Amino acid sequence: MSRIFSGIQPSGELHIGNYLGAVKNWVALQSQYESLFCIVDYHAITGNYSPADLQLRRRELAVSLLAAGIDPERAVLFVQSSVPEHTELAWIFNTITPLGELERQTQFKDKAQRQESVAVGLLTYPVLQAADILLYRADSVPVGEDQLQHLELSREVARRWNQRFAPDTPFFPEPKALLTPTRRIMGLDGQAKMSKSLGNTVGLLEEPTAIWEKLRPAVTDPKRVRRTDPGTPEVCNIYHLHSAFSPPALVEEVADNCRSAGWGCIDCKKALHESMERELVPIRRRAEEIGREPGRVSDALVDGARRARDIASTTLQEAKERMGLA
Ligand code: SF4
Repeated sequence: MSRIFSGIQPSGELHIGNYLGAVKNWVALQSQYESLFCIVDYHAITGNYSPADLQLRRRELAVSLLAAGIDPERAVLFVQSSVPEHTELAWIFNTITPLGELERQTQFKDKAQRQESVAVGLLTYPVLQAADILLYRADSVPVGEDQLQHLELSREVARRWNQRFAPDTPFFPEPKALLTPTRRIMGLDGQAKMSKSLGNTVGLLEEPTAIWEKLRPAVTDPKRVRRTDPGTPEVCNIYHLHSAFSPPALVEEVADNCRSAGWGCIDCKKALHESMERELVPIRRRAEEIGREPGRVSDALVDGARRARDIASTTLQEAKERMGLA
């Protein structure tokens, strides 16, 4: 069975953008691949954070992942900092990665230009990401399109290391992208990607009334000013959310009723709310069950870290031997 690795930053409870853009896909993939899913707290500390919050956010994220359907019997779910081999391999990769390649990364350039003083960790973030993936010698990585450049860097790191230390038989596989089928999920403001920092999210575990309070004023087709104006569903974020949550027949009905002005936007949003509830009710129920058994999350993470370390320590030992370090 081929192996996949994917990571997610601990920004607390998942929102539906994370769920549709990554986690729902992970749940489907865990029965087809040997899967490792990692809460990447070492990546999270490259931004501003509070230590007490980080503890809480790691736990909340683990609860959301388990509630969303990650099954610790099938997949290895663990926290990055509980497997120290990640940072050890990252250091090794730092020694073979050209500075220029890191400086060219779009995400680094975007973040760095907004900061007065740039920490080295922000620059070498993709090297740690390469270590995360290559430590498990993963064949593929489920990613969104915005992560393709970082994945290409991981492939280059593998190539460069193999050329130097395993020229005859490559030791690290060059991981392939497994593109997530759902398109980028926009926030309810319709302006930018759904993101907690922009305050335009819907939490995966939010109560139905709170979700409705957010959906009701959400941005739709800006040219549909009056109820009688025909709309263009393709430019409307509510329509794209229907495509993610509603059955195909309803998505078609939405498009027809939008173009003909048969429905108003509130009717359309009510239908979306019902579709979302169908998917989210069982997830909320599982989260409540998990909340009643506090040891369940920590047990899953401890066991996940143990299984991850079994693989990680073997890889690192072999890599060090080839480099004259062990
Ligand atoms: S009817 Fe639905 S798809 Fe059309 S603009 Fe309104 S909310 Fe968007």
